Amino acid sequence: MKREKGLLIVLSGPSGVGKGTVCGALRKHDTHIKYSVSATTRKPREGEAEGVNYFFKSHEEFQRMIRENELLEYAQYVDNFYGTPRNYVEEMIASGRDVILEIEVQGALQVKETFPEGVFIFLMPPSLKELRSRIEGRGTETKDLIDNRMTVARDEIDLMDKYDYVVENDEVEAAVERIKSIVTAENCKKERL
Ligand code: 5GP
Repeated sequence: MKREKGLLIVLSGPSGVGKGTVCGALRKHDTHIKYSVSATTRKPREGEAEGVNYFFKSHEEFQRMIRENELLEYAQYVDNFYGTPRNYVEEMIASGRDVILEIEVQGALQVKETFPEGVFIFLMPPSLKELRSRIEGRGTETKDLIDNRMTVARDEIDLMDKYDYVVENDEVEAAVERIKSIVTAENCKKERL
């Protein structure tokens, strides 16, 4: 049974909850799911590569992408812009492939406006205390930045009700299994056939 259109899966949740880790682990499971690489004005962190983790852009280039409608959604997060290149996502879905976006909450809500048929998954930290220690453990941010990220995280958790599914990230492999089950179930929905 082949569906005409692929699923748009949006994995969102507060920064530091482990979206990147969960997405990376999901990738290793060799599912059929395609991953959208975002554009950002943030500078690369150590070990990050152009076109793999992000497309790293100047502010001018990012503004141009906004103006020319090249982004499906975008958001300013703390001090930087992040956005999803539109073409890749639209092409994959049109050719029947499922695509996952790993994005923050403002962007996820924008996607919900344009793609209400998407599958919206909120990744939830076991607690705020645990979230803070995960961000601190990354060792890449100053205390002020961490405080900022925690303020944003509290506001983001308040928006959980807008999502179709909530997955607790207590343990990465367990979260991956839950996401795979959601995708399987969504692909079996009769209204998607
Ligand atoms: P980081 O700087 O830690 O890589 O990402 C900061 C936040 O931006 C994370 O919550 C991440 O999921 C989110 N993010 C990454 N790419 C995008 C995107 O294309 N759009 C939006 N709205 N958020 C994104």
